[in-house]
Amino acid sequence: MLELKDVTAHYGTSQALFGITLDLQAGQVATLLGRNGMGKTTTINAIMGIVKASGGSIRFDGQDVTTMPSFRTANLGLGLVPEGRQIFPNLSLRENLIATASNHLGLPDPWTVEKVYALFPELEARAASMGNLLSGGEQQMLAIGRALMTNPKLLVLDEATEGLAPLVRKRIWEALTAIRQQGMSILLVDKNLADLMKIADRHYIIQRGKVAWSGTSDQLNGDPEIRHRYLEF
Ligand code: ATP
Repeated sequence: MLELKDVTAHYGTSQALFGITLDLQAGQVATLLGRNGMGKTTTINAIMGIVKASGGSIRFDGQDVTTMPSFRTANLGLGLVPEGRQIFPNLSLRENLIATASNHLGLPDPWTVEKVYALFPELEARAASMGNLLSGGEQQMLAIGRALMTNPKLLVLDEATEGLAPLVRKRIWEALTAIRQQGMSILLVDKNLADLMKIADRHYIIQRGKVAWSGTSDQLNGDPEIRHRYLEF
């Protein structure tokens, strides 16, 4: 479904990605791991077309998206839950959801506001509240709901549980597990390794703009040396 080969990216003259190679099969959950500043967000932004890859190739759902701008990758079925949520502050929660509804023509069972409320019942009670009056946890659930309303084939989440209370984090993982059970493909950046290991099929550790290690949750769990070398702070 998603295949990156030797992807490089630059910010001006400064190189951030030095050849990222990874793939994700349909229905799989994969993570990008690594310490701060190693290139996880840049990799996600290159996939989405927010940062333009300077070399290598990115294929999604059978198409070359290497240089495709983000509005087109979104139409192809890449749904991003961005770092920092980016909720519309002056729209109500419900309006925030409706604002991103798209890609539903011809789909047998498209995402609707009601389906998002079924996934996150706590959002329904806050439907009329303005985006800027929602709690951090509600905003994060809304950000996921907004991405789902685009009917993505691949849901991409950048630090979706960052700064949230444990109970809210638990709700997010439960929802992602439920979506995954419905067959959604998911690419995640997150720091909560214990939670990630429960949900993910495959992990990619990014170190200075390259994939330094990849493997399954069992392999990562059984290898304290890898965790110590690349992930502990
Ligand atoms: P974090 O967990 O801190 O978000 P990350 O692994 O997602 O880290 P990136 O944000 O992708 O890392 O950053 C990779 C490198 O690119 C870093 O050296 C960072 O300083 C640099 N970088 C990121 N964004 C920009 C930008 N807008 N302009 C210039 N350099 C940037």
